[in-house]
Amino acid sequence: MMKFMPEPHLLESPRGREWPHPLVSRSAATGPLPVRADVVIVGAGPAGLAVASALWHLGVSDVVLLDRDGRPCQRFFDRIDTLGQRVLRSPYEHHPGVEGYRDCELLDFARLHWSRLTPVERREIRMAQAGHRSVVPVDVFEAYSRHIAAVHGVTARTWCADVHEVRPGRTGLAVHTDHGRVNARFTVLCLGEERRAAPAAWSGGVGYWDEPVPASARSVVVVGAGLSAAHVIANSLARGLTVRWVLRENEERYQCADVNASFFRPEGRARFDHSSWSDRLTLMGRHRRASVMFEFQPLLRAAEADGRLTVHRGHAVVDARPGAVRLADGNTVHGDHVVLAIGTTPSTGEGLLPADIVRARDGWPDLDERTLAYRADPRVLAVGAAACMVLGPAARNIDGHRVATARVAATIAARIGVTVPTAMEVAALV
Ligand SMILES: Cc1cc2nc3c(=O)[nH]c(=O)nc-3n(C[C@H](O)[C@H](O)[C@H](O)COP(=O)(O)OP(=O)(O)OC[C@H]3O[C@@H](n4cnc5c(N)ncnc54)[C@H](O)[C@@H]3O)c2cc1C
Repeated sequence: MMKFMPEPHLLESPRGREWPHPLVSRSAATGPLPVRADVVIVGAGPAGLAVASALWHLGVSDVVLLDRDGRPCQRFFDRIDTLGQRVLRSPYEHHPGVEGYRDCELLDFARLHWSRLTPVERREIRMAQAGHRSVVPVDVFEAYSRHIAAVHGVTARTWCADVHEVRPGRTGLAVHTDHGRVNARFTVLCLGEERRAAPAAWSGGVGYWDEPVPASARSVVVVGAGLSAAHVIANSLARGLTVRWVLRENEERYQCADVNASFFRPEGRARFDHSSWSDRLTLMGRHRRASVMFEFQPLLRAAEADGRLTVHRGHAVVDARPGAVRLADGNTVHGDHVVLAIGTTPSTGEGLLPADIVRARDGWPDLDERTLAYRADPRVLAVGAAACMVLGPAARNIDGHRVATARVAATIAARIGVTVPTAMEVAALV
């Protein structure tokens, strides 16, 4: 395997190119919510998109997606664009396409649009084809997601609605939204993650990674060790701001991904499968840690060397308020604006489902290992970050959604009575 060499220009893919429109409708659903559906998917991010597309392949057509943003993957791309992120962290083989079907995969889609790609982007495709790590432009990923959503009928089945309760009844599940109710036989929760808020004891009134830095700021204090922090820092430096970066760890970590790569492969997941609950918690802590893409290293090191960036390493924060971050050693770091980039918290169904269905343990829902259904009510299933204690730390990433989707879609199709192809039949299709 060729050793990957960081190249900062990989981060600079163009954004906002025109892509050919899919041949089928790209319009979101309009009009009132359907009264009932076989399957209601709550959340139309990359996870919801993967589940709906897989159900389409399996012949389950009575599917409704409900998302408070109203358009497939909108929150994902809004967050990315707020950060000014131009390339994804995950490689070409991680995509919301469908496991087991020779659908148009992300790599195929990129090759189809070769003429629109820059020489650097074309070289990354060749890297992916040769089995090396590759960097995917956000532009390509967004056009591909739109394509997948259109051809699998997802866009046309997505309604803008904020779901506030999923109430299990004897004959079905009542999904309550701000636009009315949908009755479902099955509900798949694809809720993603909310940004992690400052601890309640902190003063507050500060900014977050998913909000713009005010134009009036001349200096910024960034708290956090991950890619979001790195983007806020890089954008602020590009605007000529001075930056102070506060890290709890003694050193910043530059890596391809936050997740140890083995957890994207069956052997990593198998390691998880054969572990006790407490070992799984340990594995999650040890193998998923905030880090920054390699490509940022030269940029951040140069800014630190010339004094535009000051890094406060090995400091726990005890309070953050407008203009100031107080450290555990008693010192205070000042700046016009404070940005917290302290991660995200998986949405597990708490607050939507009754607590005796979520049955949260250490903050994780009680899911069946094989089907990802809530054990206390198998009509409700989960894909995405909520499935971490079954699938391991990669469940929070696009590749993990693909693995979870294969189990969830097959489970629903089998229960609805659609004939699910056997593993051998699927293999024959590939
Ligand atoms: C900036 C950024 C970059 C990332 N880059 C990568 C990457 O390169 N590779 C990778 O694998 N992962 C990446 N991730 C992780 C990424 O979040 C996940 O892979 C992916 O977005 C998760 O998809 P999801 O569908 O689970 O969640 P989301 O994309 O968050 O989608 C969930 C959707 O559900 C909706 N929703 C939630 N609750 C409700 C409700 N009650 N009612 C209605 N709608 C609701 C939300 O509005 C949202 O649209 C990145 C994350 C961020 C923040």
